[in-house]
Amino acid sequence: KTIDTQVVYSRINSSFHVIVIAYDISDVINITQMQVDFLRNASHELKTPVTAISGFAKTLLDGAKDDPEVLTEFLEIINQQSDQLTSLINDILTISHIQKDEIQTSDSVRLKDFVDQELMTQSTQIKQHNLEIQNLIDETFEVTMAFDSLQRIVRNLISNAVKYNRDGGQIIINAYSQGNFWYFSVKDTGIGISQRDLSRIFERFYRSDESRNKQQIPGTGLGLSIVNELVESLSGKITVKSQRGVGSTFTVRLPKEN
Ligand code: ADP
Repeated sequence: KTIDTQVVYSRINSSFHVIVIAYDISDVINITQMQVDFLRNASHELKTPVTAISGFAKTLLDGAKDDPEVLTEFLEIINQQSDQLTSLINDILTISHIQKDEIQTSDSVRLKDFVDQELMTQSTQIKQHNLEIQNLIDETFEVTMAFDSLQRIVRNLISNAVKYNRDGGQIIINAYSQGNFWYFSVKDTGIGISQRDLSRIFERFYRSDESRNKQQIPGTGLGLSIVNELVESLSGKITVKSQRGVGSTFTVRLPKEN
C-alpha cells in the first residue's frame, strides 16, 4: 500500500495537538501509472505511421517523384499509413469514451439482422478473402443493449475473423440464450493464436508478432481490449478458444438485463 500523510498541528486552549492523517493513495497511483503507460504506448504507436508518412513524402519531394513507379509505390504507402493513423485515433477516442462511463440507452435489437447489416459493411474484405459466412442466429432472437456497444463488439469480432482468416475460409456466427445470460460467438478458420499470445491479446496495443511483422495484417492492437473492457463494464465475459493453423472462436457472455 502507498500511504500519504498529512500532519496538522492545532492548539486547543493551552495544549498543543498533533494530528496525523493517513491516506491510502494506492489506487490513485495505479490509475496514473496506467494512464502514463497508455500515453507512452499510444504516442509510440502514433509515431510509426507519422514517421513513415513524413519520410516517404520528403523523399518524394527530394526528387523521387520523378520516377512514376516510385511515385505510385510511395503514395500507396502514404495512403496505407494514413489509414493506420485514422484507425489508431478512432480507437483511442473510443477508449476515452468508454472510460467516461457514459450512460447509453438500451434498445431491443434483432441480432440476426444486426449481424447481417454489419456483414454488409465488411463485404469488400469478405469478398477479397473469398470467405463463406454462416449467420446461424435465430430470426427471432432479440437482445436488449445500447446500439454503440453492441456494434463495437459485433464489428470487432467479425472484422478479426475476416482479417485473420485464410483465403476461402469460413466464419460461423451464432447466438443463444441460457439462464440469465445470452451468448454471441464468432468462429473462424484462420491462422489461430499461439498459447503465448492467447494470454495477451486483450491487452491494449498488443498484436501477435505474426500480424504485426510477418504477415503485416493492418490493425491497432486495440480492438479486443475495447471489446473486453466494454463487455466487463456490462458485467459480461469474453472467452477464446484457438488452435494455430485451424482457427479461433471468440464467445461473449452478457447478462440479459442491461
Ligand atoms: P488488431 O486486430 O487491431 O491487431 P485486436 O486487439 O483486435 O487488434 O487483436 C489483438 C491481436 O489478437 C491481433 O493482432 C491478432 O494477433 C490476434 N487476433 C485477434 N483476433 C484473432 C483471430 N480471429 N484469429 C487470429 N488472431 C487473432
